Amino acid sequence: MNKTVLITGSTSGIGLAIAIQFAKEGYQIMFHGLEPNGQDIAKEVGERYKVKVAISNANLLSSEDVENLIAQTIGIFGHLHVLVNNAGIQYVSPIEDFPNSKYENIIGINMNAVFYASKAVWNQMKRQQFGRIINISSVHGLRASEFKSAYVAAKHGVIGLTKVLALEGAPFNITCNAICPGYVKTPLVEGQIIDQAKAHKMTKEEVIEKVMLKKQAVKQFVSVEAIADMALLLAKDTSSTITGTSFALDGGWSAQ
Ligand code: NAD
Repeated sequence: MNKTVLITGSTSGIGLAIAIQFAKEGYQIMFHGLEPNGQDIAKEVGERYKVKVAISNANLLSSEDVENLIAQTIGIFGHLHVLVNNAGIQYVSPIEDFPNSKYENIIGINMNAVFYASKAVWNQMKRQQFGRIINISSVHGLRASEFKSAYVAAKHGVIGLTKVLALEGAPFNITCNAICPGYVKTPLVEGQIIDQAKAHKMTKEEVIEKVMLKKQAVKQFVSVEAIADMALLLAKDTSSTITGTSFALDGGWSAQ
């Protein structure tokens, strides 16, 4: 039987790379994301790797939408083995100017949706006696940077939630882990380069060199493939004792 994975935010960036890596291994993929060409992306991956795919554009700010997304996935594929909570947004600003609506959306999408989705999938994973929940947190779940109050709060929260789910899932072969990347060059970061340039009053090149990669010992963006490989490892049957942990893929940032 081919296993099924749902990856939130998988029509872009890191999520798409994870979807491709799982498709290569024969997983059935529930794509999700707001990109207008999402249908085409899902279809293309399904045809290339000869796996069953479906797609949803559920709004992760709505708990009802998230519950429907999980129910829809189980309805289409008959089961759901791996949940990758990946979707996320970013906004960078000094706290005194940080719009409340941006704060609320970051907490909503980056943290609350992880809770809603994990809660909604829990009974199915218990029944299966198998579940792998993989949360894409960030090095900002382990360390702070100025001007990222909402993002750092949400990503730290996800790591706390990861530990609780690991404890609650242990009797049922449900594991939960977090992956904490440093900077990865995706549309999310392209947007940040512009925002950071404004906040720090720098050029885009200066932001990459002096702000983004400053804290990484390895002066390279982390590749999406490295993150996808880690997710694949955590999803394996043999990874049943790897749980409650955060894996920093951050070029040595958090080693300091
Ligand atoms: P991205 O912008 O390329 O993709 C984000 C995805 O989330 C998109 O598919 C988008 O449609 C979806 N999304 C956003 N808001 C949504 C909403 N309200 N409802 C439903 N879907 C929504 O970003 P990425 O860089 O690939 O980031 C993926 C994850 O990795 C995020 O959680 C991010 O915080 C984390 N991360 C990224 C980096 C980095 O440097 N890019 C570093 C560490 C952690």
